Amino acid sequence: MPGPPITNALTIDVEDYFQVSALAPYIPRDQWHLRECRVERNVERILLMLEEQQTRATFFTLGWIAERYPHLVRCIVDAGHELASHGYGHQRASELSEADFSADVGRAKKLLEDLSGQQVRGYRAPSFSIGEANLWAFDCLQEAGYCYSSSIYPIRHDHYGMPGAPRFAHRVRCGLLELPVTTARLFDRNWPASGGGYFRLLPYALSRWLLQKVNQLDGQPAIFYFHPWEIDAAQPRIAGISAKTRFRHYVNLRYTEGRLKRLLADFNWGRMDEVFLGADISAAVVRR
Ligand SMILES: [Zn+2]
Repeated sequence: MPGPPITNALTIDVEDYFQVSALAPYIPRDQWHLRECRVERNVERILLMLEEQQTRATFFTLGWIAERYPHLVRCIVDAGHELASHGYGHQRASELSEADFSADVGRAKKLLEDLSGQQVRGYRAPSFSIGEANLWAFDCLQEAGYCYSSSIYPIRHDHYGMPGAPRFAHRVRCGLLELPVTTARLFDRNWPASGGGYFRLLPYALSRWLLQKVNQLDGQPAIFYFHPWEIDAAQPRIAGISAKTRFRHYVNLRYTEGRLKRLLADFNWGRMDEVFLGADISAAVVRR
């Protein structure tokens, strides 16, 4: 007899289309404020979709966004979702000094806590940029008071990845867990199975099969992620970008929302703290 279905963790990295690391060479951060912001309406669509499916999730929110759209932060927590940190300025941890990384993660945590009135326990590094070369980042997260990180992708990729890292939850410092995004183990290597560009690229049935494999064969909860701009097929196109970046950013945007709705219906989903920290969120206030 199979046991009860596993609750997986649903996560959203709250940033806008012009803040994506792959586009950083084309859009200097001092010009971010000149771009049309679309994150607000996209997050509102996501909140509606989650409400319809009665699903709660974790929103790793960029400090830069929270500062400009404080009501978005309140909408997220008021709907019973977990507010977590994606850092302040979306700089890869691998490109920052220890001091600058500490300042970024501390600033984001304080800002999100001040805006929400809630403790922020989770952190996800931009572009999964914690790996073998900068494990000092965990010292900074521990010092800043985070309880978990979801910043390692145990795959080989040209921009990120730590293929030798444990695939599932593990303690990296006293009081600090690393919760790596999900990979499926096939043919003696790890394959991405947790969302992002791969979810848009692969047929939905394959994404679903990979997640089922993790739940059934590994017996572990999966961690899935997506971005608000991934449901926004009408976002402004950035001119002059490389063919590879264009493909990765724009492929199948128009299918993402429909696929997400199927994903929400096909699996049980919850917040990161609920799935991994055993947090009782039954008391989480849902205000209207
Ligand atoms: Zn990001």
